[in-house]
Amino acid sequence: MLRVVPVPVLLNNYAYIVTAPGGARAVVDPGEAGPVLDVMGEGRLDLIFLTHHHADHTGGAVALARATGARISGAAADAHRLPPLDLPLQQGDTVPLGPEHLCALETPGHTSGGLSFYAPQSGLVFTGDTLFLAGCGRLFEGTAEQMFRSLQRLAALPPQTRVYPGHEYTLDNLAFGARVEPENTAIQHRHNTLRASGSPTVPGTLAEEQETNVFLRAPSAQRLAEIRARKDASA
Ligand code: ZN
Ligand code: FE
Repeated sequence: MLRVVPVPVLLNNYAYIVTAPGGARAVVDPGEAGPVLDVMGEGRLDLIFLTHHHADHTGGAVALARATGARISGAAADAHRLPPLDLPLQQGDTVPLGPEHLCALETPGHTSGGLSFYAPQSGLVFTGDTLFLAGCGRLFEGTAEQMFRSLQRLAALPPQTRVYPGHEYTLDNLAFGARVEPENTAIQHRHNTLRASGSPTVPGTLAEEQETNVFLRAPSAQRLAEIRARKDASA
């Protein structure tokens, strides 16, 4: 089983330190290096996974690679605007991490080259700014149709899959979702529970997302576009 430690970086980003049985270690989306190195302490770092090219997800990658010798993996399609890639990835490519592996899923919409990383043995997925808990990323480069297909691709993973998103936006997303689906008691319940806890909301599960994420629940790309536009206007 992979062990995942969220590291808050920058304003509201998460980097994730992922440790495999036997000690192989990776970091996902190191927006800055310092906090990741502080949490990692001594020891090896083998791989750096980048979900997309935005600086708040990549800013620490080169410094971490220099400090540790870790190899950098990310979307081949975005190699020209990512830090230098040792492992350029396409849909379905897998990268071993100890006895397990991470599988690249192409999930464009927020950016044209966005990837999610799925670890099937442990049942977890790193979704960057594609799928947030109770939300989804803005459509900076992709279309609503692309984001719709990307969310459906993630929704097709097993329901118990744990979701590790790129940002802590969950409470805000749930408050918005409660306005889109005022009759959805699962959204209200999740909002109240997480707000009362006052702690980081990651990870969630896909099953929870199916019940409370109004973007994932949108039945069509057109409906997704409407909800996304409403969220953009509310922010
Ligand atoms: Zn982004
Ligand atoms: Fe981001």
